[in-house]
Amino acid sequence: MYVSDMHTHSIASGHGTSDTIAKMAKTAKAHRMRLLGITDHGPATMGSAKEAYFKSLTMAPRWRCGVEILYGIELNILNQNGKVDLPQEILSRLDYAVASMHSQNLIHGDICQNTTGYLNVMKNPKVKILGHIDTPSFPADIEELVGCAPKHHVLIELNEASLAPGGIRTPNPEGSVRIVLAAKKYHTPLLLSSDSHGAAHVGDFTYCIKLLRALEFPEQLIINNQTEHLKSFLKEAL
Ligand SMILES: [Zn+2]
Ligand SMILES: [Zn+2]
Repeated sequence: MYVSDMHTHSIASGHGTSDTIAKMAKTAKAHRMRLLGITDHGPATMGSAKEAYFKSLTMAPRWRCGVEILYGIELNILNQNGKVDLPQEILSRLDYAVASMHSQNLIHGDICQNTTGYLNVMKNPKVKILGHIDTPSFPADIEELVGCAPKHHVLIELNEASLAPGGIRTPNPEGSVRIVLAAKKYHTPLLLSSDSHGAAHVGDFTYCIKLLRALEFPEQLIINNQTEHLKSFLKEAL
């Protein structure tokens, strides 16, 4: 059982199928989780929250239903230079950011271009997690990213929605396998993320766990249960 999930979406992501933060916290509590990260899509995602929402999160309750909440964002990487869709001034008030590539607002590049985009966004001091680097439409040099993430103070996630059938993305076990093998090779910690849109999959890492076991990934490199360390890592000002 893992007690934290740092990449989740509330109703503010605007997909129409999600839940309130309160309902997600209730689900986290029911799963006996301790730490929940709310990372709604940045303003460049169609229908997602505007800048004012992310500004207001600084005043949102830190605890709900006995679960500690961190407030972040899933930024859209907008170009290879690592440009993102929230002004740094607002971003700096949030606890942390996930940075990801999405077809809606980034032209598909080749492996070299996509890898450059990830490497550049890692230089942003608020970016603490790279989201779903296994996305097939944005092929990247996974081994290089996993190998150099620690020196940029960035975590690589293993995304449940990249593996679960019927999820928000086409299952891509190949990319996830590459992430796990590279992390094992470089002793890079991995963060399990549900990428749940709403409460339904909060804390659900079923397919991630199956894969990690099959590839004999060391338990001590899974960071989700090291909650104090995880919290300070994400909130650390660089
Ligand atoms: Zn995403
Ligand atoms: Zn997401």
